[in-house]
Amino acid sequence: MRRLGVRENDALVVHSSLRSLGKVQSGANAVIAALLDVIGANGLLVFPTFTYWTQVFDPTIDPCLTGIIPETARVWPGAVRSWHPTHSVAAIGAGAQELCAGHHLVGGNALGSPLDKLAARDGSILLLGVGHNSNSTIHVGEAHAGVPYLDVPFRADSFSSATIITRDGPLEVPLKFPSGCSKAFGAIEKVLRERGQVRDGMIGDSLAQWVKAQAVIQATVDILRADAGGLLCTDPDCYRCTQSRERLK
Ligand SMILES: [Zn+2]
Repeated sequence: MRRLGVRENDALVVHSSLRSLGKVQSGANAVIAALLDVIGANGLLVFPTFTYWTQVFDPTIDPCLTGIIPETARVWPGAVRSWHPTHSVAAIGAGAQELCAGHHLVGGNALGSPLDKLAARDGSILLLGVGHNSNSTIHVGEAHAGVPYLDVPFRADSFSSATIITRDGPLEVPLKFPSGCSKAFGAIEKVLRERGQVRDGMIGDSLAQWVKAQAVIQATVDILRADAGGLLCTDPDCYRCTQSRERLK
């Protein structure tokens, strides 16, 4: 991980596939412990703990749908989970509370969301055996670009609000700026590579990429300024992208 660019005191969001690593003794626990070992006590480790279609969300118990490494991080001693009903994150380390605070009041990956704050803190992104279609910071870039499709829901039947179960009782919140489709996000990789901003490495059997979050936001903004539909997929059955293209006409 150090060879790849991860340093002590780093703030890092990790998108991962445990299976991609091959056989790991102690599994997800070992991966998280190794990351914490590298970034140290003043670093900050963030994982997407998305639940996607939750209409009633209990951040203390609801498992995530983003894999075994985030699910293990979610229950890690000292981990903080944000309250966003569909796109929560788990954070471990320095500044975890501040990063997660108020997430339920903004869009999942909108301006002011944890991944936006991570970028503002000069954070980095580690893709561990997954591609840029798992790189949620690109959604933050869409928000910075101000594309006209930010409020288009993912599906026609997407709900517009959700209830969070808090210690003080249920809290209903609107679901603003739903995160869209990421099937075409792989297009960013060429731009990042041309700019020399990707570091590649092997961790176990896993192909890993490391990139600065600010670089991803800047590349997203540049792609979308040149072509506002440049990160929409071409799947005719994708509600989000077909509706978004209509907005661009
Ligand atoms: Zn799509």
